[in-house]
Amino acid sequence: MSILAVGTVAFDSIETPFGAAEQVLGGSATYLALAARYFHDDIRLVGVVGGDFPDEYVSVLRDSGVDLQGLEVQPEGQTFHWRGRYHYDLNERDTLDTQLNVLETFEPDIPEAYRDSKIVCLGNLEPAIQREVLAQVDAPDYVICDTMNFWIQNTPDSLRETLQRVDCLVINDAETRELAEEPNLVRASEIVRDMGPETLIIKKGEHGALLFSDNTVFSAPAYPLEDIQDPTGAGDTFAGGLAGHLMREGSVDQASLRRGVIYGSAMASFVVERFGPRQLQGLDPVAITKRARAFRELASIPELRPLQEAAA
Ligand code: AMP
Repeated sequence: MSILAVGTVAFDSIETPFGAAEQVLGGSATYLALAARYFHDDIRLVGVVGGDFPDEYVSVLRDSGVDLQGLEVQPEGQTFHWRGRYHYDLNERDTLDTQLNVLETFEPDIPEAYRDSKIVCLGNLEPAIQREVLAQVDAPDYVICDTMNFWIQNTPDSLRETLQRVDCLVINDAETRELAEEPNLVRASEIVRDMGPETLIIKKGEHGALLFSDNTVFSAPAYPLEDIQDPTGAGDTFAGGLAGHLMREGSVDQASLRRGVIYGSAMASFVVERFGPRQLQGLDPVAITKRARAFRELASIPELRPLQEAAA
């Protein structure tokens, strides 16, 4: 039983109101894999880097126990580089520069040994590439997918084709509204689920997450952190924690999905405490459980007394 994490492996240069970091390890596949690894031991990564990608960054993934057979190195090429700046409202960020580099010609070649993967996490990539990945996996039990406004605006038809093969879409509130062309999130969620995904998870940054599945809605709170340094990768970390937890439970029923959302939120709450994926190296599993339990406390509502007792 294994999880396949596909996405970018990147250099990130990040500015937030609390500091800056140049060329740190980043990318959607990096965060997905590092987070999922806390829940399951067979995590396979598919991505591409250039000859400039340092051994030290490869070691971060390898030492965490992530299978790197699917990490392609193009010795002559340069690694994907993203540069972004966050506002005081950390839900707002500007992309200052995106250098696709080796990603421009990336054609994922899924190793033979990866084809029996059971959960596939499609990190934010061109929808056609996401489909190329799915075409090379035998019979995944569950497909989790991320996307972004760029693909919603520029390749809408291709994105729709990918969504038909997705079980769980994990996007933010603005992306949901844009994809559905509907401002109301409840109505938008129905429209998006009609496009294919049985389950839709809407990330709301500092305001938690909503899970739409089986015609029920579940609202997960956000953990009130005192010190947030860098939100980069929070979404991918969330998806990695979710996937890892679903694999651990061996189920995607309503209760498992709800717990998965809580574990995903707990992992995301750790990663934002430091720049880059540093917090995902050497986290204590006891601390993860403790934080996930704190989420239960946060959302625990005492008994409510009716305004008017029912007539006898
Ligand atoms: P998140 O904060 O979870 O949305 O993901 C941030 C990660 O996405 C960063 O580590 C970036 O390297 C990566 N990223 C940024 N832009 C893109 C893009 N256009 N395609 C794929 N990955 C990207």
